[in-house]
Parts: sequence; structure tokens; C-alpha cells
Amino acid sequence: MSVMEISHRGPEFAQILQASQTRLRQLLAVPPEFHILYMQGGGLALNAAVPLNLSQGKGVDVVVSGSWSHKSLLEAGRYANAQAAADSRQGGAPGWPAPATWKCRADSAYVHFCANETIDGVEAPQWPDLRALGLPSCAVVDASSNILSRAIDWSRLGVVFAGAQKNTGPAGLTLVFVRDDLLGRALPTCPSVWNWASLAQQRSMVNTPPTYAIYIAGLMFEWIAQEGGVAEMERRALERSQRLYACIDASEGFYGNRVEPQARSRMNIPFHLKDPALTDTFVSQAHEAGLLQLKGHQSVGGLRASLYNAMPMSGVLALIDHMNAFARRYG
Ligand code: PMP
Repeated sequence: MSVMEISHRGPEFAQILQASQTRLRQLLAVPPEFHILYMQGGGLALNAAVPLNLSQGKGVDVVVSGSWSHKSLLEAGRYANAQAAADSRQGGAPGWPAPATWKCRADSAYVHFCANETIDGVEAPQWPDLRALGLPSCAVVDASSNILSRAIDWSRLGVVFAGAQKNTGPAGLTLVFVRDDLLGRALPTCPSVWNWASLAQQRSMVNTPPTYAIYIAGLMFEWIAQEGGVAEMERRALERSQRLYACIDASEGFYGNRVEPQARSRMNIPFHLKDPALTDTFVSQAHEAGLLQLKGHQSVGGLRASLYNAMPMSGVLALIDHMNAFARRYG
């Protein structure tokens, strides 16, 4: 029988789930006071599940650094008094709003930020320490597109969540790390299957969990461990992205990336051609060369290379070769 056929309540699946969480805890050095919850619904469901579990009728401050955090702000506003603590989309180059400029309320329930803006290619260079900034509330981090690509300092955090489909495994699983003292704050309207206290108590089995996605994620955690752990994933992410940015920057404007240099993402690299009319030609010639998925997100256009943990360096080098050849042909 396959993992999809066996009962999720049986000892075989219990072992698969337990082993995957143990390995994940090791990989990210998650301290005992954090629960690892396996949820469903992806990053967008968490935009609702976080305020439903944490807001307690208080304010919610959201740092807007691009498209995904803007969505988080709008969704939180359906359940709580949400406001933008900063908004780097207001003019200028896409970037990471300096934490010292965040306007957070002293009594807000939490401050939400997005560790990596997948569409805009903006990554927080460091995760801020709210206490050092004089802010009492806890940090909630959307790490959907860069989880497991850098170490996490848990002492600064309340909640981290991440949809699995980028650095972890198949879509359908959402990783949620919650500090123990934050359980038990859910609004009465919070759906039972999203209640973190119940999920923690029932070891993520309030209802049928996404068993196949959990199984594959467990294999991925083993692979990361064998390859050298999160430190090695971080080293590779830096190497991959630095090579690609270097190619863009050396192209004398043929290719461009508008993100502020210190906030350039190691995971998602949006870029554009000086002559946007060549974009479709670039994409189709790349496709012929076996380089896929390079079209920019539909909301922003242009081009984007997503360099997740599974991308080998050879893939980046092939893309760079193609970009250089294309620039020679059309530049
Ligand atoms: N947050 C971030 C940073 C994302 O990249 C995404 C998906 N690309 C989401 C949230 C939404 O995730 P999902 O599609 O799993 O709901």
C-alpha cells in the first residue's frame, strides 16, 4: 500500500509524520517552546488563520514590502484592525523598509512581515528584533518562499509560516511554527480546523492531513540534511543568486533588476530587458534551450528566475550562458 492508501491514524503514518517533524526541528534548530503545526490552505490561508488565532481584538501591524505582504494586510483587515506599519511600494525602487522606520502601535497584537517577496524579488536582509526596536508585540513571518534557505534566530519570533511548494515539497502542506505562549488566543469565529491550540494538542491531526505532501516533505528534509543542512542551502542560494545578479549587472543595461541592492532576493530574481518588446522572444528561445518558467509573474510582467533549494548550479550556469548569447545577438 502507498502512503496515500494507509490510514492517517495508523502507526505507519504516525511514524512518517513524527520523523518529518523531528528532522525539520533539527534542520532549523527549532527550540522546544515552538510547536510545529502542519496545516493546509497555503500561505493565503495563513493570512486569515494568523489574525483569527492571534489578534484578540487588538491592532495588527503589517510591513508592506511587496505584493504578498500587501495581500496579508488586506486579508488581516477582514478580521482585525490592520494597518501598514511601512510600505516600500510607495515610490522608488522595490526594497525592504528599514525596521527603524516602521510605525507600529505599542499595543498591537503582532507585527507581520514577509521574509521574501516572491513576485517583487525583495528579501529581508535580516529578520529584525522587535524588542531591540522597542516594540512589545511579537513578529509573524511569512517565509513561504525562503524557508530552509537560511538559519532562523527563534528568540526574535512568535510565528513563522510557509507554504511547502517552493523549498519543501508538493503544494498542500503549510508549515506553521508557533511559540507555545501564543496558543489559546483564537477568536470564537476561528474555524476549528485552524485553531492552533487544537492543532498542537492533536499533533496536526484535527482532520485528515495532506499525507502525501507530508511524506514527500519528509524526504526533502532528509535530502537537505544529507546535502549539509540549512547552512549548505544558504551557501548555495547565495552562490546561485550572486552569479545571476552579476550577469545582469555586467550586461550594460541590456538586462536590469530594479530592487535595492541590499534587499535583492536570493530566491526569486525578477529582471527585464532594456527593450521589453524582446521579452516573448527571450522566453521562447529559452524554452527551446530547455530553460523553463522564466516568464515574470502575471501581475508585473518581465522575466523572473526562481532559484529554490532544488535548483542545481548547472541550471543557473545554463541560464547565464543563454542570457549572454541572447544579449550578443540582440544587444
Ligand atoms: N506568501 C508568499 C511569500 C508567497 O510566495 C505565496 C505564493 N507564491 C503566498 C504567500 C501564497 O501562497 P499559497 O499559494 O500557498 O496560498
